[in-house]
Order: sequence, then C-alpha cells, then structure tokens
Amino acid sequence: MANYNDAFALRNDKAGEVIAERMRKRHFQAWYCKTAEEARDKAISLISKEDTITFGGSYTAEQIGLLSALKEGGYRVFDRKEAKTLEEKEEIIRKAFSSDVFITSFNAFTEDGQLINIDGNGNRVAAIAYGPKSVIAVIGMNKLTGDVEDAFDRAQTIAAPVNAQRLELKSGCAKTGLCCDCLAEDTACCYYQRIRACRPAGKIKVILIGEDLGF
Ligand code: SF4
Repeated sequence: MANYNDAFALRNDKAGEVIAERMRKRHFQAWYCKTAEEARDKAISLISKEDTITFGGSYTAEQIGLLSALKEGGYRVFDRKEAKTLEEKEEIIRKAFSSDVFITSFNAFTEDGQLINIDGNGNRVAAIAYGPKSVIAVIGMNKLTGDVEDAFDRAQTIAAPVNAQRLELKSGCAKTGLCCDCLAEDTACCYYQRIRACRPAGKIKVILIGEDLGF
C-alpha cells in the first residue's frame, strides 16, 4: 500500500498527464512536471535571452525559483516589484502588453483543461488574453478543480481571500478570511476570466506541477 505522500504524487502524476493532453486539444501547449525544479527548467527552455519578460504577480513563479533564475541568468526581466515609484510600477505593468513573454499563474484549472482567473485590477487577465507574444503559466496541481463552476468557486473562496490578506485590502474577506461577495472599492474580484481554448494556437504554455504551489 502506498503511503499518503506517495498516493498524492501518484494521483498528481496520472491526472497531470491526462489534463495536459486535454489542454493540448484546446490548443494550449501543455506539459506536466513532477517537481518545481523540472517546471522551472521547462519554463526557462521556452524563453530566449533576447526576449523581454514581464510577470503577472505569480507567487508560484517565485516559489519555483523562476523569477530569481531569470534575473540571475541575465534575462531581460522587468519586475514591477523593483519599481521605485508608482509611475514606474504602472509603466512596467503596461510593458506587459508589448513584451515577448508574460509569466503568470491561474487560480484554478478544470478537469477538462480550462483555465480560470479572478483579477482585481484586470492587468493580469488582460495580458493573458492579448498582447504578449507568449504567455507561460506555472500552476500547482493543488489548483485542480472539477468543472468551471468549481474553479470560479476556488478562485473566489480560496485564492481571493488569501490575496486580500497579502495585499492588505479593505474587502470583506480581508476582515473575516471568508468571501461575502463584497463590493468594496478595492475588491479583489472584478474581472472573471475563463479560457476555454487558446488562440492563436500555442500562445499560452501551461506547465502543471505535481506540488502544492501558490494559492
Ligand atoms: S469578499 Fe470581496 S474581495 Fe473577498 S473574495 Fe469575496 S468578493 Fe472577492
């Protein structure tokens, strides 16, 4: 009998390969990587030294060491966290729309291979949909959900309340840790994105990772 950790890993390995194949049928490029290290190397292999690179606020990209590896490797990274002024930060966010590569994650993905995000400002979902030549999404298998409804539920009841703590918002969930479907001025839940298929084909590259990553 497999122990609990092995059982989770076996399930992730099997489901990850199946869902990556379902994503390819939806015209994403998609891979399953067992470990964060493998995923980081796969992402780097999709980027050239000449590419301009921006990030869509992905904690997963930080956790797997992708951001630091690109910076240390001499890639052309524009990181809004390094902006010294609000104007500079806004400029870097806008640069995403004309960048070669946009690196991000998703709040959830479905068993049939669709991708889901909820965004407050909208810059992340906008850049995923249109602008950058290439989008690379790194996603932990902990974000797998059943169908689209389940995926939006995960995004609004798990990801957004955690994000609200991180960003110190004034939303309802910032106070209680639970979603109350608030309409706070700084609500994290404004733009709801469901990516059913990728067009142009192959633009969005999804790397599923057999570990718990992000939120
Ligand atoms: S309380 Fe508001 S910000 Fe928090 S998850 Fe619900 S709708 Fe989003």
